[in-house]
Amino acid sequence: MTETRTVTTESTTTTLLELRAVRAAYDAITVLHGVDLTVAAGRVLALLGPNGAGKTTALRVAAGIHPIASGELLLGGRVMSGAGPRDLARAGVCLIPEGRGVFPNLTVRDNLWMMTCTGRPRAEIEEIAFARFPILKRRAEQIAGTMSGGEQQMLALARGLATDPAVLLLDELSMGLAPLVVGQLYEEVAEIARRGVAVLIVEQFAAAALDIADRAAVLVRGRIAAQGDPDRLRDELAAHYLGSAP
Ligand code: ATP
Repeated sequence: MTETRTVTTESTTTTLLELRAVRAAYDAITVLHGVDLTVAAGRVLALLGPNGAGKTTALRVAAGIHPIASGELLLGGRVMSGAGPRDLARAGVCLIPEGRGVFPNLTVRDNLWMMTCTGRPRAEIEEIAFARFPILKRRAEQIAGTMSGGEQQMLALARGLATDPAVLLLDELSMGLAPLVVGQLYEEVAEIARRGVAVLIVEQFAAAALDIADRAAVLVRGRIAAQGDPDRLRDELAAHYLGSAP
């Protein structure tokens, strides 16, 4: 009798984001060669792999920014291949790109207020942002570009949360940040996932992402080389990076 109950995790939770046999190319050069990925509601998938493996391209495909050559993109079980970034954003996909999605010359408050384009009132956006990242309230009038890298990433995340995403795509959140700050940011990401958001994290260097991930996948030259339990993949990752290790 317990047999049916033991089949838990991905199969019985709601899959929100799915890439099915996705191929993608830049002109004649194929960079994703049939990638399969799924992320369920409330789960975190870490997509890791060396430089140039195709991680950012996979995120851009998921956000509708980069076209699919073949295969399918599904959101909540609905085929969305061919949909553009606006449609996917409307359907609940939020991409926080590498290099922080903030406007450095605007204040923190103005950065947040810009997100009223999502239809949410200013007060609500601020409430969500300041509750999640209290430091942003203290920095509300500060020019975003003068804040620390970690604080700018918090602002980028807060802007993303204003869209009330169902699927959050994070590209190299840790870029240029101290390990302690990265750990704190990922704790916030884990909390966002606990509220039911499907989170896909792309990172080149893995440790902090693996700490909060439910699953991990290793992308090498456009193919998923391994996928599974984050702890199991730690060793596998070391092997994949050995070629580029000093
Ligand atoms: P990185 O960690 O360096 O960002 P990545 O795993 O995210 O690497 P992608 O940025 O997706 O990899 O790049 C995959 C491949 O596609 C690389 O060989 C890259 O040179 C190539 N590529 C990326 N963007 C373009 C582009 N705009 N035009 C042509 N080729 C591109």
